Amino acid sequence: MRVPMIAGNWKMNTTVSEALELVNEMLLGLDKIDNIDKVICPPFISLATVRELIKGSSIKLGAQNIYFEEKGAYTGEISSLMLADLCEFVIIGHSERRQYFNETGEITNKKVRAALKVKLKPILCIGESLEENEAGRTEEIVTGQLRASLAGLDYPNGLIIAYEPIWAIGTGKAATGEQANETIGLIRHNIAKLCDKEIAQDVRILYGGSVTAANATEFINQPEIDGALVGGASLKANQFLGIVKQAAEIRHRLSG
Ligand code: PEP
Repeated sequence: MRVPMIAGNWKMNTTVSEALELVNEMLLGLDKIDNIDKVICPPFISLATVRELIKGSSIKLGAQNIYFEEKGAYTGEISSLMLADLCEFVIIGHSERRQYFNETGEITNKKVRAALKVKLKPILCIGESLEENEAGRTEEIVTGQLRASLAGLDYPNGLIIAYEPIWAIGTGKAATGEQANETIGLIRHNIAKLCDKEIAQDVRILYGGSVTAANATEFINQPEIDGALVGGASLKANQFLGIVKQAAEIRHRLSG
């Protein structure tokens, strides 16, 4: 059985002291829940301090991006090597990076490779735009992104995929549970074709896009969906905790 995961992407929000305050608000509640993976991804500058705060708890830490080179003259960049000791996960290929920073499939592929090299687990984001969705191109787009990002890699151990339709991110217009389940089923089917069936059954695929404590169950209850990548709602302790609790209850019910 795939272990569900709820990951919070804080994006470019919170100063170091705000990050500490937010973690302090969630810490006890999150730590009590131990049957699912709970990951928080604060900005780079807060990773080291947050890491100290959550030490000994069951909360896991992720970064939001990396550069694909290990070190060198790349002013302002952060490498996988620098993060390897700090966190366990790294978000790669988020649509905001594809859109605002021109990240191509080739670049996400290099980043996935760089992460895996130092045993950071990539949370690889894929998803279609509204236009592509309306043109019926969802499967073609997500499969293309998947193939480009994983080109030349055997199924990478530890890889997590987040299906995030761009039209649902930060808009308050989430997909329906059925829509997300169907596309995630297609992604799994394509992984089976790219690698093999067993691998496809093992890989965790999250849904992301306007998930809140009010709609989380609709997604997590779906058979193909293994949790959520949460943006806006991960910045509110009660919302994030509410989502995590729903995932934990569903997992408890299914495994009991
Ligand atoms: C995200 O940024 O990955 C995301 C899913 O954002 P939101 O939950 O705010 O739509």
